[in-house]
Amino acid sequence: MDTLAKLAILGEAAKYDVCASSATSGSGAGGAGRGRIGNLSPAGCCHSFLPDGRCISLFKVLLTNECVNDCFYCPNRSSRDVPRTSFQPEELAGLFLEFYKRNYVEGLFLSSGVAKNTAATMEDLLKTTEILRERYRFGGYIHLKILPGSGEDYIQRAAELADRLSINLEAPSAGRLKNLSRRKDFEKDLLERMRWVSKVQAGRREGKVRLSAGQTTQFIVGAAGENDAEILGAVSRLYREVSLKRAYFSAFQPIAGTPLENGPVVPILREHRLYQSEFLMRTYGFAYEEIPFGRDGNLPMEIDPKAAAALRRPEAFPVEVNKASLGQLLRVPGIGPLSARRILSLRRTYRIRDLEELKNLGVVTGRAAPFLLLDGRSKKPETAPKQLGLFDLSVLDGEVPADGGLPW
Ligand code: SF4
Repeated sequence: MDTLAKLAILGEAAKYDVCASSATSGSGAGGAGRGRIGNLSPAGCCHSFLPDGRCISLFKVLLTNECVNDCFYCPNRSSRDVPRTSFQPEELAGLFLEFYKRNYVEGLFLSSGVAKNTAATMEDLLKTTEILRERYRFGGYIHLKILPGSGEDYIQRAAELADRLSINLEAPSAGRLKNLSRRKDFEKDLLERMRWVSKVQAGRREGKVRLSAGQTTQFIVGAAGENDAEILGAVSRLYREVSLKRAYFSAFQPIAGTPLENGPVVPILREHRLYQSEFLMRTYGFAYEEIPFGRDGNLPMEIDPKAAAALRRPEAFPVEVNKASLGQLLRVPGIGPLSARRILSLRRTYRIRDLEELKNLGVVTGRAAPFLLLDGRSKKPETAPKQLGLFDLSVLDGEVPADGGLPW
């Protein structure tokens, strides 16, 4: 098989890993349907955001889809009848460089199935990356997948070569993972490896490792019977325990020829609500306990989580724009980190009195107004946003499960 024929298979197979952002990540714009998981980019290409906020295009590919494992949801599982192939490290490094020189891509997202065994595949992944860094002097962005059960020395070397590492948890606990895989051990093969990545990441300060974009993980949403509280509880713990940079979510879509082929199609909106909530915890400083789960432990679909969180705490609103702290402003629907900082900056020398002034600072006033006082006065519009009037608050009456209560 020639290199481009391999790329057609291994670029296509890589699209099921959403652990590098696609430009549509979380937007639901990727298009739903049977046979897809999450937001899929065209085969061979996706996008990622660098630590400085720039969006770059990545060459996204598997080293091999000749996987010996049999994960229940996976299109590349060993017992499924699909064309199989592998790149040699030299071949893949050369192909990437060709695309890079032609300005098709700016970085590499390299993942893989497990061919023969974990050690042999990790060696080939590392060799590909070493050729790029050492022979071709490629200094750009590389996101490298760490395979379940990888040795500590492989993780150390991967951290020396790559900007970002990821280990896909797929499920939020050992019990849930059993519904997706017979072979992966949640604690030993995955969590322990994430702790090792976190440990080697500490060497960044002394310049021992690269790892400028930290580690990430991915969850397949709805395949293992878990609810959103379990997923976000796990994410919240991973922030604390392994310095997780961010989490990716992929709404489960059944794939023909897998044991889960008759499983439930999970709405892309559920994935979107998880992205919104993860964003609130990561960027807005929301605690896990502030995320508004319903009685079933899932996020409400009818309303975005920030609006639901505000409605659940009527005692905290309205807030006075001219006195509120950054944290209070960030909890107002329609006010983001940038507009909140602009408000704080402006009010040092000026008293904000008008919704139009807030609009000029970037506030979505139609959403924010019912939660605000401007110079002591409510500027609530005659018609409050539709979603606030229609939303049934009683669905949020459930107890918020503690993230510390997860079985790991
Ligand atoms: S290890 Fe599991 S998820 Fe990964 S490629 Fe193999 S079967 Fe698929």
